[in-house]
Amino acid sequence: MSLKVCSACGEQKAMAQFSRHPKARDGLQQRCRACANAAARASYLKDPDRVKARAKRWAEKDPERRMRVSYGSKLRKHYGITHAQYDEMHRKQGGLCAVCLRGQPADYSAPRRFLLVDHCHQSGAVRALLCSPCNVGLGRFEDDPARLRSAATYIEKERNA
Ligand SMILES: [Zn+2]
Ligand SMILES: [Zn+2]
Repeated sequence: MSLKVCSACGEQKAMAQFSRHPKARDGLQQRCRACANAAARASYLKDPDRVKARAKRWAEKDPERRMRVSYGSKLRKHYGITHAQYDEMHRKQGGLCAVCLRGQPADYSAPRRFLLVDHCHQSGAVRALLCSPCNVGLGRFEDDPARLRSAATYIEKERNA
């Protein structure tokens, strides 16, 4: 395993301890994650408004990237899957919601967020990608197949009445 010396604390650390920096020669930041986090915290405490304004400018300049980054950390934290795994599920489902089989509306500005990761609320296991209305709908019906079937029957009966 190769090591890299942090420019701030001077310690030798594993490559995984450094965040990526696409423009750097080795593709990594000069400072280790711990030092970079500490520096970010310090500059935020020194001048919160400046940091917030910078984050806002960055988000406005590239909303897609911002979304990818924030959704990426959500994917990892909440569902334990990577962006690559998400993309693979997205590809396998042909970009369609697994319940209503609808695709992404043409006017939707945030394509990746259109399909949400649906997970079992009991086991936490990832099931499939669903559109937001279907995802919310299942939750409202407490993932109860009997209730969902009963709802379908009810709608059909009312429609034919
Ligand atoms: Zn360091
Ligand atoms: Zn759907």
